[in-house]
Amino acid sequence: MVSCARGLRPAVFLDRDGVIVIPHFQNGRSFAPRRLEDFRIYPDAAASLDRLKQRGFLLAVVTNQPDVGQGMILQSEVDAMHERLRRELPIDMLKACFHRQDENCDCRKPKPGMILAAAGELGVDLTKSFMVGDRNSDIEAGHAAGCTTVFIDLGYDEAPPDAPDHIVRSVAEATDVILGTTPTTQGAA
Ligand SMILES: [Mg+2]
Ligand SMILES: [Zn+2]
Repeated sequence: MVSCARGLRPAVFLDRDGVIVIPHFQNGRSFAPRRLEDFRIYPDAAASLDRLKQRGFLLAVVTNQPDVGQGMILQSEVDAMHERLRRELPIDMLKACFHRQDENCDCRKPKPGMILAAAGELGVDLTKSFMVGDRNSDIEAGHAAGCTTVFIDLGYDEAPPDAPDHIVRSVAEATDVILGTTPTTQGAA
């Protein structure tokens, strides 16, 4: 076997809010839920992730949660939310950035730090992997990591990403795109 990618697996990297968790909408913008009682997983998330898992994709959630660094939500509350995700969804890894933008960390999207770290820990072939997100920063991070990008367009009143590889409306549609295009992607690689 000459491939240097031997043993590495494809993954789907998923943003949290607006992808697997229902965001709070206000004035055309979306916000992370701040209370555990407001934390709701999209009804189609579990089945979608199960489908991806069955096709051999590793699943990693990568999420910016700056409200923690800004003191607007306790980290223990976010930890409880992420416990629920781990319990109810077949995810292999969850990485969260709790920094504020002005802290200029390496993990906050649009930087690819969380994707690259998860890929290293899980043994991921990034060229056969996907990043799914609802904001420009997700798509930029996915591009920077070398993944195929899938933009879930929820119609926010903000600039859409420049050049996502695919545009869909939900995590279920993102799953359809990923499962439909994977053989083509692998064949072209
Ligand atoms: Mg989001
Ligand atoms: Zn960070």
